[in-house]
Amino acid sequence: MTLRNIKKTLGALLLTTLTVSATAQDLIARQAPIDRRMKDVSNVSLGTSFANADLNDPAANIYTTWVNKGHKNAPGYAAAGTRIDLRGFAMPTPSRKINSPFGPRWGRTHEGLDIKVYIGDTICAAFDGKVRVVDYNANGYGYYVVIRHPNGLETLYGHMSKQLVKPDQIVRAGQPIGLGGNTGRSTGSHLHFETRLCGQPINPALMFDFEHQDVTGDFFTTTRAYGEQTASRK
Ligand SMILES: [Zn+2]
Repeated sequence: MTLRNIKKTLGALLLTTLTVSATAQDLIARQAPIDRRMKDVSNVSLGTSFANADLNDPAANIYTTWVNKGHKNAPGYAAAGTRIDLRGFAMPTPSRKINSPFGPRWGRTHEGLDIKVYIGDTICAAFDGKVRVVDYNANGYGYYVVIRHPNGLETLYGHMSKQLVKPDQIVRAGQPIGLGGNTGRSTGSHLHFETRLCGQPINPALMFDFEHQDVTGDFFTTTRAYGEQTASRK
């Protein structure tokens, strides 16, 4: 194809685009969340996802230590107003059914969201990151996994029937990390999903909208400080 022909073709294409009917534009507008997800996918293919080097020490600006034990064992400091980048997310499960919300429950705080899944359902990493904990707690999370992400969050996936990752493994958003189950302190198969910052829980529903299979926005900004400022902070 000659350059002139290419220009001609592009011109025709542009004209077609400009004469798209109002009805079609409405349809396009209604698909906005899907478009946003597609944009995320193309970002990955353009190479703007995190390089392995960044994932080896995720959120080093916040955390002071890296230990493979303890879901709360994440010393660090994030000031109020810390902006957490939610772009590049993947929903941990396609399930849209919340069985139990974050908050007070049975005289204690339920520090995550319970999402209905069946035994053997694929559970995926919510963002790119590095697996910090792969453990078992018979009276609590059952088989669970904790991942630290470059955006500062740690995500926890509990009550699984099987773990598919190893400590210190680098994972990508949407990568299977376990299978749904009913292990630990659980009645009925479900995924217990937590989002933590410096070991302290944040309501995942402030960031993840399972019903609509989307994040609540491109960013989540904290309204208070998390963790403790220490001299050893990087
Ligand atoms: Zn739970």
